[in-house]
Amino acid sequence: MNLAHRFVRERYDLAAFRSAVSGVKLLDDAVTLKRRSRDYYWFSPIAKAALDGKEADLIVVPHSVDEVMGVASAAARLRIPITVRGLGTGTYGQAVPLHGGIVLDLSEMTEIMKVGADGFTAQAGAPIHAIEEAAREQGLELRMHPSTKRMATIGGYFCGGSGGIGSVTWGGLREAGNLLGAKVVTLEEEPQLIELNGLDTNLVNRTFGSTGIVVDVSAPLEPARPWQDVVASFAGFDDALAFAHSVAADDAIAKRLVSFHVASCAHYLRPLIPGLEEGHCAILMMIDKRDLSKVDPSPIILSEPSAEREADPKRIPIYEMSWGHTTLHALKQNRNLSYLQTLFPPGRIIETATQMHRTLGDELPLHMEFIRYEGQLAANGAQLWPYTSEKRLAEIIALHEDAGIPVANPHVFTVEDGSRHKRVPGDQLAFKEKVDPHGLLNPGKMPSYVPVHP
Ligand SMILES: Cc1cc2nc3c(=O)[nH]c(=O)nc-3n(C[C@H](O)[C@H](O)[C@H](O)COP(=O)(O)OP(=O)(O)OC[C@H]3O[C@@H](n4cnc5c(N)ncnc54)[C@H](O)[C@@H]3O)c2cc1C
Repeated sequence: MNLAHRFVRERYDLAAFRSAVSGVKLLDDAVTLKRRSRDYYWFSPIAKAALDGKEADLIVVPHSVDEVMGVASAAARLRIPITVRGLGTGTYGQAVPLHGGIVLDLSEMTEIMKVGADGFTAQAGAPIHAIEEAAREQGLELRMHPSTKRMATIGGYFCGGSGGIGSVTWGGLREAGNLLGAKVVTLEEEPQLIELNGLDTNLVNRTFGSTGIVVDVSAPLEPARPWQDVVASFAGFDDALAFAHSVAADDAIAKRLVSFHVASCAHYLRPLIPGLEEGHCAILMMIDKRDLSKVDPSPIILSEPSAEREADPKRIPIYEMSWGHTTLHALKQNRNLSYLQTLFPPGRIIETATQMHRTLGDELPLHMEFIRYEGQLAANGAQLWPYTSEKRLAEIIALHEDAGIPVANPHVFTVEDGSRHKRVPGDQLAFKEKVDPHGLLNPGKMPSYVPVHP
């Protein structure tokens, strides 16, 4: 059945829902409804046009797993959709409720239950930076975090994110060993609490909250390193790319980040990086201080302890100029910009990145982060794209795909359309049937799922 016919907001029995969950924090003032129904979907002008004005009818802010189970039970019985939310830094409208209903805001479930050499366990709403701070007190650190470490929850990262700072060494979130466990509440009249371990944790990764309400998560920690924020700059594209690739590929250099920016992209970082010349490419890195001697010092224009930059309110850490933050800084200076997401494949990074740079030049300023992909070095492109038209976007995507560079389209809001393989990965569809039999979790985001009991 067409979702617009199935989910008619006027028919949601919110009065019955409220009385079923009495005692749980509920918010419904106009400003809060608007704010907590949004994420960073406006990074894409196409998604913005499609999603502007989509809002929840009620914001529900639980403080315990029991409260989450009570909310899930009432929503299932009354057939009211639920869109789960952390802190709303997701892109592509992941956290935007397409059919109104309830936004379940987990940002007040922030307990960190365990931190140790065998990893951490925290409630889904725990801020990512708080987990890393707790780990550092024990000489440990996160294996990886998004560039939104200081703005996002761990549950939101598990359910909406893909990788980030650390992925140059450890790969994306989905790679074996990067997610250890999750507890998931099902959306049924009698909700269950399901425990996922090891690779099964991927059943909730990047499904935009459509495969269960994640209440707590576990992931590995690593011995903390003395990271150094380092920026290198080059006048020429080829030299810059060769340098970035050689640092990223060198296993003798411990690193958390190697982020490449062609000159027309680095342009937007100049206000944040004193000494970065106009017309120069930039390579942003986080390198273990003890390995700095292994890096050619001649192109380096900035080298400072990462912890000092992170602690200084007047400066921003280098990681907050990489990944999605590059787009954010550029957008602040040019509202017409948007972006693309690509994967420069293992073994062909330099060849394919150079080919696209030569073909598209400043029409698609190259920005990419080196990552491990199934153990091999690859690069995650997040090129800036001055928006012109959907027709041109389709042409640019085709150019990449014809060159063997997979694209994850960031201008669409379904799991399938946004994936590099244009389908729901692995067993996520089968798991959705188990945890969301009525199809109430973030409806419209996983259209290939047909609910067993609508
Ligand atoms: C400037 C910028 C930089 C970014 N950099 C990165 C990056 O480096 N790496 C990266 O991977 N992503 C990045 N992102 C995307 C985003 O920040 C991360 O995915 C982030 O961790 C999301 O956390 P959040 O708490 O804001 O989640 P939200 O935006 O609130 O939610 C994200 C998705 O997960 C679902 N969700 C949230 N919590 C739960 C839960 N407990 N149970 C089930 N579903 C849930 C939501 O429904 C939504 O679909 C970036 C985004 C921006 C705007």
